[in-house]
Amino acid sequence: MGRPHRTELYHDVPSACWPIVYSPDYNITFMGLEKLHPFDAGKWGKVINFLKEEKLIADDLIVQAREATEEDLLVVHTRRYLNKLKWSFVVATITEVPPLFFLPNFFVQRKVLKPLRTQTGGTIMAGKLAIDRGWAINVGGGFHHCSSDKGGGFCAYADITLAVKFLFERVEGVSKATIIDLDAHQGNGHERDFMDDQRVYIMDVYNRYIYPGDGFAKRAIKRKVELDGGTEDTEYLQKVQTHVEGTLNESRPDIIIYNAGTDILDGDPLGGLAISPQGIVKRDEIVFMAARSRRIPILMVTSGGYQKRTARIIADSILNLHNLRLIDNELATRGAENPKVPACSGSLHAVMRVLCPLSACSRNSRASLWTDLPMPLCRQTNNYIYYMLLLPPLQKGCGQMWHSWR
Ligand SMILES: [Zn+2]
Repeated sequence: MGRPHRTELYHDVPSACWPIVYSPDYNITFMGLEKLHPFDAGKWGKVINFLKEEKLIADDLIVQAREATEEDLLVVHTRRYLNKLKWSFVVATITEVPPLFFLPNFFVQRKVLKPLRTQTGGTIMAGKLAIDRGWAINVGGGFHHCSSDKGGGFCAYADITLAVKFLFERVEGVSKATIIDLDAHQGNGHERDFMDDQRVYIMDVYNRYIYPGDGFAKRAIKRKVELDGGTEDTEYLQKVQTHVEGTLNESRPDIIIYNAGTDILDGDPLGGLAISPQGIVKRDEIVFMAARSRRIPILMVTSGGYQKRTARIIADSILNLHNLRLIDNELATRGAENPKVPACSGSLHAVMRVLCPLSACSRNSRASLWTDLPMPLCRQTNNYIYYMLLLPPLQKGCGQMWHSWR
């Protein structure tokens, strides 16, 4: 195998920054179509807003996620699969948003796949940060149904596999990884990717009766905990505790990837389990406690769970980890009192965007007709035409289709 390709995802991060990775580009918004989906497609931004309200972090102390490039994605994905995403109907199937079927692919790329690629870049970046700092949280990511050549269940890129492979290829001393997957669904994507890879130990706790029920992928799970529908806190937390301890005693990895899906929450329309908000906070605490007590670096991604109250619970859990000193960043705290600390990246762009509307033309721009930032007339007109021409028939037709599809 040749030398790894050049990537922008492993750049040095100022020590003042918290190893919390996020970008406003994570959030999916376009013409109100996202409201046709049962997901809260803006949960990632809400988590960050809650953390800012609680004064845990400030914009300049967050590590700005970068979009994974095609070359980055090719570390895991086949070119055939990436080419398939150039068809809107394929993306519509993978993300389970039928109306995307009717939209031009450049639009689907910009409004749906770019956010997912940015979250994927975020997971890869957080992998390196976890090694450097002992822990890292990507506020998005956790697309555990996607493997190298197949997407599904809202997962278009295999961010977990990518993060692990980047570490194996680029960071000396990282040769064993453990994936602890506690989303309500089975993580068949990374399981298929690491099927015969002895370097990766997979523990998966999931509802046995729901999607994806991938029998082949289950063969990759070293520690499988299948739950019945309606499982509650006491049984759940006891199983998590026992099996996380067992997993780490057995596997002794150089890095833990923790897929912290919150669709285990009581009332989740997809997860079918009955865990309370406090149960989720406790679960994350158990995993971080086990990792930190053994001094194993841990990378957390937020994965599934898109109820309206989900963002608050994720923020509460991160605050709890901080209160218990399971995550901390003394340098960052000192930096927060000192406005002269170097920005973590991206903030120059943000300033430029406000000062100079034309800078919204730049490739990194996230300005649009529906955000608060100004943008060039050409693109405004462009968006306006789409809005006027496409929205009324789409809302009518797709609304009906959506209802019959459900
Ligand atoms: Zn899930």
